[in-house]
Amino acid sequence: MALKITDECINCDVCEPECPNEAIYQGEEIYEIDTSKCTECVGHYDEPQCQLVCPVDCIPLDEDNEESQEQLIVKYEKLTGLPFVEV
Ligand code: SF4
Ligand code: SF4
Repeated sequence: MALKITDECINCDVCEPECPNEAIYQGEEIYEIDTSKCTECVGHYDEPQCQLVCPVDCIPLDEDNEESQEQLIVKYEKLTGLPFVEV
């Protein structure tokens, strides 16, 4: 499941450079996550890096974009062109 940024975002900019998939970008009003690029950090880290750094805790799982671990692994492999290795 991808993550999403809620309207509690204060545009502090700290999450964007932490994303290994460049899935986070400045939207019209707040930062947003490109669902097609978010793997929950699967393949890169053992937990979502954006969630770890967000000072206002406004990056929950996006219930509308449910994905299994297997789907996230396939996504990682497509995005990076690398085989998945457990981190
Ligand atoms: S969970 Fe990871 S891949 Fe998804 S937006 Fe956050 S930092 Fe990027
Ligand atoms: S870290 Fe949180 S508050 Fe800061 S820009 Fe990202 S989503 Fe918004």
